[in-house]
Amino acid sequence: MVQGTLYIVSAPSGAGKSSLIQALLKTQPLYDTQVSISHTTRSARPGEVHGEHYYFVDKNEFNAMIAREAFLEYAEVFGNFYGTSREAIEQVLATGVDIFLDIDWQGAQQIRQKMPQARSIFILPPSTAELDRRLRGRGQDSEEVIAKRMRQAVAEMSHYAEYDYLIVNDDFDTALSDLKTVIRAERLRMERQKQRHGGLISKLLAD
Ligand code: GDP
Ligand code: ADP
Ligand code: 5GP
Repeated sequence: MVQGTLYIVSAPSGAGKSSLIQALLKTQPLYDTQVSISHTTRSARPGEVHGEHYYFVDKNEFNAMIAREAFLEYAEVFGNFYGTSREAIEQVLATGVDIFLDIDWQGAQQIRQKMPQARSIFILPPSTAELDRRLRGRGQDSEEVIAKRMRQAVAEMSHYAEYDYLIVNDDFDTALSDLKTVIRAERLRMERQKQRHGGLISKLLAD
């Protein structure tokens, strides 16, 4: 069985990474591509569903998960804790499914150390003004939270060069097409194709 590819996607809050990942998943069957559902101590926004957007847990539960090494990575972002469950990721990758992690730069560094085969993608907004507009347009965070996220944007973006791919999310469809191209190219890599088309290759070479 070919192992799935682990994709890390980071961006300043509001750059559009969740929208891009969700749009990408709609174009791919579940047996090909999934998104990891993080655990967080942040409270749910209106419309967010436990087990769908995040697993919303309290600080005690999160700490207990840290203690039993349940996280592949975890980090404090904007004053809340976020983490990726190890078991969920390993199970999915083992079945050959590609999995997307929507995580911050700190988590990205931890994953790269543990899983050097992971691919990482950074998403930039087309301008600071547009980032501010998108955060407000989403209409889900308080003024205080938006101000905090805007202040943190430069710190997040300063890590862009640590990633394998860079996509500017100006026109949404162009950015989505860029994202799809990255995944397509990764699936055509020799190691993966050798395994997928092993039968064909042996036949062709035997003739
Ligand atoms: P948004 O994605 O900016 O709308 O906001 P979220 O509340 O969904 O995410 C907050 C921050 O936590 C972002 O910087 C995410 O990239 C990061 N984040 C989300 N999930 C994870 C995770 O599982 N691990 C890590 N390390 N960071 C995460
Ligand atoms: P993130 O997950 O990076 O915080 P979201 O995916 O929630 O960002 O996007 C923030 C807001 O910007 C959402 O309201 C989304 O619909 C909007 N948005 C995303 N990409 C674009 C784009 N290319 N053009 C205009 N608006 C966008
Ligand atoms: P939000 O609170 O807007 O959902 O997410 C804020 C930030 O937290 C985003 O940049 C998101 O990528 C990051 N984030 C979400 N889940 C995780 C996680 O499990 N680990 C890490 N390190 N960051 C996360």
